[in-house]
Amino acid sequence: MKTVFTHGSLFDGKSEHLKEGVNVVITDNKVTDIFTGDFSAEGFDQVIDITGKTIMPGLIDSHVHVSQSAPIPVLAVMRNDEFAIRSARYAEEMLMRGFTTIRDAGGETVGLKTCIDNGMVKGPRIYPSNAMISQTCGHADVRCYYSDEVWHGVHTAPLMRTGMFVTCDGVPEVLKTVRQQLFLGASQIKIMASGGMASYFDPLYTTQFTLEEMKAAVQAAADYGTYVMAHIYTPAAMHRAAEAGVMSFEHATLMDEDNAKEIQDKGIWVCVCPQFGGNGGLPVHHSKGRPTLLGSTPNKAKPTLEMMKKGLEHEAELINKYHLKFLFGTDVIREECAQDEPADRQLADLHRFNYYFGSYESLKAITGNFNEVVKMTTYQNPYPDGKIGLLEKDSYADLLVVEGNPLENVEILCDVNNMKLIMKDGTIYKNTL
Ligand SMILES: [Zn+2]
Repeated sequence: MKTVFTHGSLFDGKSEHLKEGVNVVITDNKVTDIFTGDFSAEGFDQVIDITGKTIMPGLIDSHVHVSQSAPIPVLAVMRNDEFAIRSARYAEEMLMRGFTTIRDAGGETVGLKTCIDNGMVKGPRIYPSNAMISQTCGHADVRCYYSDEVWHGVHTAPLMRTGMFVTCDGVPEVLKTVRQQLFLGASQIKIMASGGMASYFDPLYTTQFTLEEMKAAVQAAADYGTYVMAHIYTPAAMHRAAEAGVMSFEHATLMDEDNAKEIQDKGIWVCVCPQFGGNGGLPVHHSKGRPTLLGSTPNKAKPTLEMMKKGLEHEAELINKYHLKFLFGTDVIREECAQDEPADRQLADLHRFNYYFGSYESLKAITGNFNEVVKMTTYQNPYPDGKIGLLEKDSYADLLVVEGNPLENVEILCDVNNMKLIMKDGTIYKNTL
């Protein structure tokens, strides 16, 4: 199958200016040629005139949990079949928002990814981390109440049984747990390195995993040619993770000047998840301090939200000041609990990125930068045959045709109606041209 898009304006995922009058040739699932000037329709199965439109790489959300199709307390009481069906629906919704690739920052995604890759269901490419790995009492310890609920080696706590979360302590257990995720097909490893907001037993300022444990995770990942990404908020945790060799800091909201220098020095990626710019990602229901199975969260979330908002502003200043490498991530959860957030915060977060970083840097963060991150996955890369996040020769045919110039204003992408055509892996999923 050979398709050509003709006479468009091209954003290639990294250049500061559009290239005008461009023809893009797709052969099967790859970009095989890009040229300007006249062309002959001969030899093409499909000619799509995109005069006046911009053609660009498909979007990439580098921090999302596609199997988290509901708030955590709801997931805890969900049947497995419901869990799976909802994840599939959530994945399709992401694709139809223009996200042709996601990096899953932890969850039960291997079966879903297989079904998407086989064409059984629609969805983006998935770079899976599999389970979120945490120490006991850490950010992924989602047992309910204060009980230790393991029966014949199996958790009785419903969330621990989903496969989305796993706890381990000490170097041998960390090694084994990381290797288990690699066995299941993780393209990178996700650990929890500091406390969190919407979790029960780990205050925000806790540092999680010892240096030796973190180093063990990094070593086990490195031996399989890949890297570790860490949920991380605080300066102390960032310092430790940098020393251990963690290469992707998720959130990094409370970064200080020393952290920024260290991140720059070691070439660590920062995946900015600006959910604290609004109320997104934070459940609105609060119990009286006691975690329960349904509809409650720790009281710590509310008072610290203002602090996190300020932290985010400061983080953005440091990223700009030190020219840190950063990615677009949303950490969006389907059916956001906070009522003032739109269901599609995944795109709406581009408003915030534009505010902090401007259109060009935001566009690279949501497209071409990811191609650099993919290189860190080497032989764990599930999609090794083409470039991702770029639109050039030998890229996968993952692309959008949009109304307007996103380099002038990236926020045109917040409106899905501006996406006239969505193609992933050479297949067109939307075409309103
Ligand atoms: Zn997350």
